[in-house]
Amino acid sequence: MSHSVLNADSQGRVINPEALVAQLPALQYVDGALCLEEVDVASLAKTYGTPCYVYSKQAILNVYKAYTDSFAAIDHQICYAVKANSNLAVLGILAQAGAGFDIVSSGELARVLAAGGEASRVVFSGVGKRTDDIRYALEAGIGCFNIESDSELALIQGVAAELGKTAAISLRVNPNVDAKTHPYISTGLKDNKFGISHEKALSVYQQAAAMPNIRIQGIDCHIGSQLTEVAPFIDALDKLIELIDNLRTNGIELEHIDLGGGLGVQYIDETPISIADFAAALLPKLTQLGLKVFFEPGRSIVANAGLLLTRVDVLKPTEHKNFAIVDAAMNDLIRPALYQAEMAIIPSQLATATAGNECTWDIVGAICETGDFLAKDRVLSLAVGDVLAVTGAGAYGFVMSSNYNTRPRSAEVMVSENQHQLVRPREQVAELFATEQLWQA
Ligand SMILES: *Cc1c(COP(=O)(O)O)cnc(C)c1O
Repeated sequence: MSHSVLNADSQGRVINPEALVAQLPALQYVDGALCLEEVDVASLAKTYGTPCYVYSKQAILNVYKAYTDSFAAIDHQICYAVKANSNLAVLGILAQAGAGFDIVSSGELARVLAAGGEASRVVFSGVGKRTDDIRYALEAGIGCFNIESDSELALIQGVAAELGKTAAISLRVNPNVDAKTHPYISTGLKDNKFGISHEKALSVYQQAAAMPNIRIQGIDCHIGSQLTEVAPFIDALDKLIELIDNLRTNGIELEHIDLGGGLGVQYIDETPISIADFAAALLPKLTQLGLKVFFEPGRSIVANAGLLLTRVDVLKPTEHKNFAIVDAAMNDLIRPALYQAEMAIIPSQLATATAGNECTWDIVGAICETGDFLAKDRVLSLAVGDVLAVTGAGAYGFVMSSNYNTRPRSAEVMVSENQHQLVRPREQVAELFATEQLWQA
């Protein structure tokens, strides 16, 4: 295959490893070797094995700081969305930096507490909370419940009364704005399962106001994920401000507004609005509003802090397609299969990439599913044993992994400057069924 063939994704977007890496934080090629911060990723693959998730501490902190710096002019709280990457090391780094957290289960709250986070700086989101989740959160001293229905409100009142506690709540309203993102990650349209409609919100607040163990604290929304423009956020903010005014007229005063998460990142050539520009666009309205402001970013904080390292196990050219079978699969990284996500896959050693024997490859896992692929039709020069890096893998990567096909989940490693540390060991096969039992009738 000639050199003029370009490495591009399914939309024809060119992926040039060096050019891409120059735009991503914490990554660089040093003498042709891909490094995360100062650590050569091929050496990480050797030390910890593959598949392996590796994260940059500095990249995480830099994005967190971009949020806190950009909103420094107003009273604000950044609640990192734990579901994007819930490794204790990630949570601990953010807790130490002063972050709050957005959780969607009591399991995530347990992680936050184990990582040294403060319950009072946690907001509890999610469309279906259970009695035991609510009890655990109230006992831990949760900051606020983001509620999504009147039946949930009644449930929380009941549990709070039983415990003799007061639950702070915020109502997640569905502003019915089109986030213009993938339908599976768009959450702010009226036919989504999320939130309470604008029209119903006042009556739910009025019910809440009458409940003895409920304290109305805020209003929130979360319109989707991987948003690259600010316009949908502004539209949502306008809708919320309208509602806040209406609530004031009806004697209901709020303390905070929570605009959720959703800011997008660069995977291939996306150009999401920068955090500074995002803040600049929202600040005039937020300043005028005068409420404390919460954000719940997940993806934007961790996506580009992480790589998935995987090794080429088998090269299988066929008449119609060339398959490179790698040791990571859809159980390790499901985004390509679940959302048709295009993620860049770049060589850990540039020398191998320029060897001159480029071919068009489908980069696939070894799982018995046709949907098991990491990328299709990528032009790469590959040899068995090469270590590849999937970029943008820090968010919705490991957390969505499974043991399908009885595959142990990957190791996770944190890097800072020239240091690296295993923050979750690779699972062992025996652990996967250690608690199962033979039928003993
Ligand atoms: C998933 C989620 C987030 C984080 O979204 P990102 O796109 O990762 O920033 C924030 N808030 C809620 C309620 C969520 O469900």
